Amino acid sequence: MAILFILGFWSVCIACLWVWKKDLFVATWNEAYFADTPVLIESDDWGPGGEFHADRLNQLLNMLDQHKDAVGRNPVLTADMVLAVPDIEKIAVDGEYHRKMLDADFPAIYQALKDGIARDLLTPQLHGLEHLNGAGFARLCQQNDPRLTAAKSTSDWWDWESLDSPLQGHYVDGSALPTSSVDSTEAQNIIELATASFQRMFGAPSVTTVAPCYLWNDLIEQRWRDRNIIAIQTAGYRCTGRDQSGGYQQDPPIIRVGNKNRFGQFYLVRNVMYEPVDGKNTVASAVAEAEIAYQQAAPISISTHRYNFTRSETECNDAIAGLDQLMSAIAGMFPRVRFLSSAELGESLVDPSPEITNRFNGKLWPGLKMASGHRKLGAFLYRLYYRHRKLALIGYVTGLSLPAWVICKTGLK
Ligand SMILES: [Zn+2]
Repeated sequence: MAILFILGFWSVCIACLWVWKKDLFVATWNEAYFADTPVLIESDDWGPGGEFHADRLNQLLNMLDQHKDAVGRNPVLTADMVLAVPDIEKIAVDGEYHRKMLDADFPAIYQALKDGIARDLLTPQLHGLEHLNGAGFARLCQQNDPRLTAAKSTSDWWDWESLDSPLQGHYVDGSALPTSSVDSTEAQNIIELATASFQRMFGAPSVTTVAPCYLWNDLIEQRWRDRNIIAIQTAGYRCTGRDQSGGYQQDPPIIRVGNKNRFGQFYLVRNVMYEPVDGKNTVASAVAEAEIAYQQAAPISISTHRYNFTRSETECNDAIAGLDQLMSAIAGMFPRVRFLSSAELGESLVDPSPEITNRFNGKLWPGLKMASGHRKLGAFLYRLYYRHRKLALIGYVTGLSLPAWVICKTGLK
């Protein structure tokens, strides 16, 4: 009798929740749920740098070569590429912005990248033509602005990472705050040159991209669409600019994997932070974030910037050792792990086909299996639980959390 009462009570609760949150439930249910566990390593800022970067990259790739997924593939570093840096000498001559290109001026790094592609350990993805705003930079050069001193005085190579943070944005000019967005013509020019240069360097187009400093807007998305960009990598939000005090202006503030923008492009989301040089996260915190993604049948997308591997040798060795542990933990903890590049995940969202193609080296891998039934229902409940505190609270108060917990736990294997 008591059991019937509880079941009746829960039924009424579910009916009320359905009336109240139907749109949310339907939207959440219609998201992508993966039966396989896609694992991506997103690494921003590869490109021009010191020649020693080539060795550091090889060390990193040799570590990845030691791991295998459920179909025998190695982890793939999605290397987010910066294609050029300023040519300071030429800018000084005429005040116009001039570039040094990755392939022509940094051959050792370029070769290391191409070797990684051939070994199926690295896939390039467009980050930006450069990691700064060219017009704003040239103007500051002409004015001998002290904010450029550190970057200009780098002895053997030009380091944009030593610029003030607001100067590192590409699709906004951060030389004065609040930032100003590039205009339509400038956006078209730099994106056309970037996508054409990328294809020339790597032999295939970048169908996905991530904006420097996560700063971009609708206009940039439109220009990306004009150049056949199908998916945009994010950190779970978009920033359209920085305000008077340098604060990031988020719009939209929350992005989920598989959300679409007004141009039909998919968003991807980094959900595991492994940036050991920042001292903010550890292998253990990254494993915990990976588990939360797995529970929700979402891709595990690890963010780990180049600078973790290009500072001191000790920092590089420690970062590689930690990533090695993280790869072992992920491959050991979760079933059907699939190592992919971001471009391959983006293409799978657009067209869930039976095969995954690495466009840069022609290698083929089995397509991703999507979740259904019990596994999908459990992951759906996990998504509601992690995202909506009110619903979680209602679950605890009504006792609905008990059957939900059983569904979630039994759906995981
Ligand atoms: Zn970057």
